[in-house]
Amino acid sequence: MKTTSHLKHILGAALLAVPLALIAADQPNPAKDKAPHGGRLMGGTAVRAEFLVKADQTVEVYLYDQQLKPVAPADQTVTLILQGKDGAKTKVEFNKGAGAFVSKSPVTIPEGAKAILAVKAGGKPENFRFDLIMSPCKGCKKPEYACDCEGC
Ligand SMILES: [Zn+2]
Repeated sequence: MKTTSHLKHILGAALLAVPLALIAADQPNPAKDKAPHGGRLMGGTAVRAEFLVKADQTVEVYLYDQQLKPVAPADQTVTLILQGKDGAKTKVEFNKGAGAFVSKSPVTIPEGAKAILAVKAGGKPENFRFDLIMSPCKGCKKPEYACDCEGC
């Protein structure tokens, strides 16, 4: 808690009366960041990626740095593998749009699909694996894959 002791030093012991939660709210917490486009936000060591299925079934992938600043598509590569329950794999390729990688065509998502989103940025490959569940969450009404409810 480097920052806490720092604040204590500056503001004095009165700050100790402030619940710790209020202090913690000011700290960057990558796990609490909301996906800017309502998709699934995933953290990597080199890059963060937001995965989003649009209403027309095209897939968009937005890239960010660790501070959630958008990273424009340039020399990164993005590939998506979808694996259905039967084990059949589909590879989805992307075009570079102005602000996001966009799938070259609409994607048919098999029921119970597992997704592997492979992002290569700055020479470092990162694989993000998740269940691509399209049914809506009862809590936040978003598709389950993009759910950001607490504890559901
Ligand atoms: Zn939810």
